[in-house]
Amino acid sequence: MSFGPDDHPDVLIVGAGPAGLTAATYLGRFRRRVLVADGGPPRACWIPVSHNMAGFPEGITGEAILKRMRDQALEYGAVIEAGCVEAIRRDGDGFVATMNGRQIRARAVLLATGVVDHHPDLPGVEDAIKRSLVRICPICDAYEAIDKSVAIIGRDDRGIREAAFMRTYTDRVTLIHVGPPDALTEREALDRLGVRLVECAIEAVEIGEDRITALNWSGGRHAFDLLYSALGTTPNADLARELSVALTEDDLLKVDAHSATSIPGFYAAGDVVKGLNQIAVATSDAALAATDIHNRLRKADGQTV
Ligand SMILES: Cc1cc2nc3c(=O)[nH]c(=O)nc-3n(C[C@H](O)[C@H](O)[C@H](O)COP(=O)(O)OP(=O)(O)OC[C@H]3O[C@@H](n4cnc5c(N)ncnc54)[C@H](O)[C@@H]3O)c2cc1C
Repeated sequence: MSFGPDDHPDVLIVGAGPAGLTAATYLGRFRRRVLVADGGPPRACWIPVSHNMAGFPEGITGEAILKRMRDQALEYGAVIEAGCVEAIRRDGDGFVATMNGRQIRARAVLLATGVVDHHPDLPGVEDAIKRSLVRICPICDAYEAIDKSVAIIGRDDRGIREAAFMRTYTDRVTLIHVGPPDALTEREALDRLGVRLVECAIEAVEIGEDRITALNWSGGRHAFDLLYSALGTTPNADLARELSVALTEDDLLKVDAHSATSIPGFYAAGDVVKGLNQIAVATSDAALAATDIHNRLRKADGQTV
């Protein structure tokens, strides 16, 4: 099934990651006509193996999670179309989006566009992320770093917070601070935590078979089992900003308890909303959004109970 030029969905979901696909399954099962705009590989596809997904005690890859979620959404009639939504504007009680050279009208929109990671500027970094040598998310996988030698690369106090978090797992933690000196406002905490601080640019990196074999600075060589990036992310919030949807000071979308934004009929879920970037969070917010969207449309169609 697909939507032609004069055929429009009830709901447009922007983003085909865990949040967007979960909402598509819920809305499909609410018998809503759903179009999911799939702008390319979601962040979740970077997950080498996740060990904190409930129901998968043996772990599951990001690709496998996404395939299952995609198959489930398709099973209930969602249409998933490759392409980027370029703009969204309000149109009466609904919205009009521009995508793949046509205008798509929808009665409600869910923004599930995620964030972009600021990867460290190191050679081979993408391959190293896929091999779990360079990591992004200690909440996801610090358990798999127990007793390992860990370097954290940061440019501000986020690096200190991640170093502190890692001390639950290992006493061999080094913070490599690549930002300006005054960006570390809580540096005295590092001594208390027993975290080594290195302040200088990394000159070269060798990523070996199963460890970061050397980070060189000031001529020295230092080996680590793992490198965590604490360089942060940027939310994909441009579409919302253009619509004047309320954002937090971190450029995340502000939502209520039902994942509704400041604009009626415009919802958001997943990493673009919550700093705790987790699939469980993305899917739960998506379920809240989908249910509220369905109830909102029922009401608009005259169902008062
Ligand atoms: C290396 C790594 C390991 C991780 N490990 C875990 C883990 O073990 N457990 C866990 O719970 N979480 C983990 N995460 C975090 C998890 O991947 C995210 O929390 C999750 O993917 C968020 O889902 P989302 O749907 O909000 O965003 P995403 O998965 O990023 O999907 C967003 C989608 O929106 C699309 N998009 C953006 N703009 C547009 C547009 N204009 N038009 C159309 N489409 C658009 C993007 O192309 C993308 O497909 C990990 C992340 C990384 C990077």
